[in-house]
Formats: sequence, structure tokens, C-alpha cells
Amino acid sequence: MIILKIGGSILTNKDSQTSEVDAISLKRIASEIKRSLDNSPKDLIIVHGAGSFGHPPAKKHKIGEEFDKSQYPEKRLGFCEIQNEVKKLNMFICEEFIKMGLPTVALPASSFISATDKRITEGSLDLFKRYLDKGFIPVIYGDVVLDTDLEFCVISGDQIIQYLAMNLNPEQVILGTDVDGVYNKNPKTHDDAIFFDKFTSLKDLDTLEGTTNVDVTGGMVGKIKELLYLADLGIESKIINAEVEDNIFKVLENMEVKGTVISRGN
Ligand code: ADP
Repeated sequence: MIILKIGGSILTNKDSQTSEVDAISLKRIASEIKRSLDNSPKDLIIVHGAGSFGHPPAKKHKIGEEFDKSQYPEKRLGFCEIQNEVKKLNMFICEEFIKMGLPTVALPASSFISATDKRITEGSLDLFKRYLDKGFIPVIYGDVVLDTDLEFCVISGDQIIQYLAMNLNPEQVILGTDVDGVYNKNPKTHDDAIFFDKFTSLKDLDTLEGTTNVDVTGGMVGKIKELLYLADLGIESKIINAEVEDNIFKVLENMEVKGTVISRGN
């Protein structure tokens, strides 16, 4: 089984305050996945980020922060707004994938996962296995969920990757984003950033700058933290640039692709 994440930075215009799908990237990625599955069938789970659909409303409603009881109705409505926005993005994505002939089925985290202090603590994955057995491609995405400590919280696609991989033991965990992998500092704002083929510790980062955009879940640093948890369990993952044409196809076909492997080994 392969768990493939497609970053919100690829599928949406993430710097935008409004919900905008990047229709060209979405189509290209759908066709790369289809080409690979036609070439060699494989079990695949797709995770996608919330991008410009999820982060602005999550920021506006400050979901995941403590609040006064009197604010509960307003927060609950905010939760609904975010849940609906990310569902819209998921619908656009699944629509394009289905058009391409990919049997995707959405399994929204808000409908079966819950958290404690922003970490996923509950959520049965049996249905994932059953859909996979029947040849479907389960799709899950960054979402809001109930939290036993905070009432509500945001769960990033990256945390979902960690949870799925920890519980499902995939052969490959791949994350497609809009840069080639991990650098010692943000390559979009530093021309002299140094690229890592292999990344083993947060200490290797010069700065803990999250991202250049409105990400509420920690951007690249949040991503790396989740992947280091996985590495601690002996599960390697690889961050690649999904903006480079054919990278998703190649990585699904086990061909060499530039990227950063996150592991604890040497
Ligand atoms: P996605 O939405 O694809 O999951 P993010 O926006 O969360 O991706 O993270 C990718 C962004 O992180 C890149 O566009 C880059 O600007 C930023 N970034 C910040 N620090 C780093 C770093 N040290 N290495 C690579 N990218 C970084």
C-alpha cells in the first residue's frame, strides 16, 4: 500500500484568502496517478491538505484555541463553516479524479476521527481496509474534528498521514508539495538554502519558519514533525515536488525522484 499526500499548496492557491482550486495542477496530478495505476495496479490512499479552503476560516475562528463558554455557539458554527469549506475542496478533487477514471471515495476525518489536545486519539481505519480490498482509493483530508480537551481542533493532512501510516503499515509514504523537499531554511525566501537528501532531526533546520502563507498547522515544520514521529516508529517517508511534471507518476512507479527522505537512520 502507498499513502500519497498532495499538499494544499499544489491543489489550491494557498496564499489566497479565498477558496481557489488550481485546476491545472489537479488535472495533471489526477492523470499522473491514473497513468501509474494503469501501468501497475497498487493499493493507494490519498490524503490532501486544506490549502486556501481550510486555513483562512480556521484562522478566523481560532479553532484549537481555548475559549469562553459563552463563545461556544459561535465556535461551533465556525467549526461547521470550516468543515464545509474543506469538503468543497475535496468534492472538486474527487470529481476530477472520478472523471479521470480513478475510483476515489471520500472518508472525511470529521466523520470518524476525534482528538485529545490536537492529537488524533480515536478513529477506526477498518473501512479504509475494506474499501482498499474492493479496489477503491480512499481519500481523506485536513479537517476539523471534536477534541476532548478543546472541544474542537484542526487536524492537518500531515497528522493524518502520520496516523494512517502508524496504523496501516504502508510500503511507501510520499508527500507531494511545492518545493523539492526540506532545506535548512525556506528556499522560497532564501536563495542560499541548502537541500537535504535525508533529514533526521529538527536541529538541522536553521530557522523554524513555518511557511510563507496562511497555514494554521505549521507548514513545513509541522510536516517534518509528523514525519519524524513516523521515523521514530521505523517508517520512512519522502517529500517530493509535485509541481514538477511526472514526479508523482515516477515516485508511484518507484523511479528515482529528487526529494528528502525523512528517517532516523544514518
Ligand atoms: P503543503 O501545503 O504542500 O503541505 P506547506 O505550505 O505546508 O505545504 O509547506 C511547504 C512550504 O514550506 C514551501 O512552499 C516553503 O515555502 C515552506 N518552507 C518553510 N521552511 C522550509 C524549509 N526549511 N524547507 C522547505 N520548505 C520550507
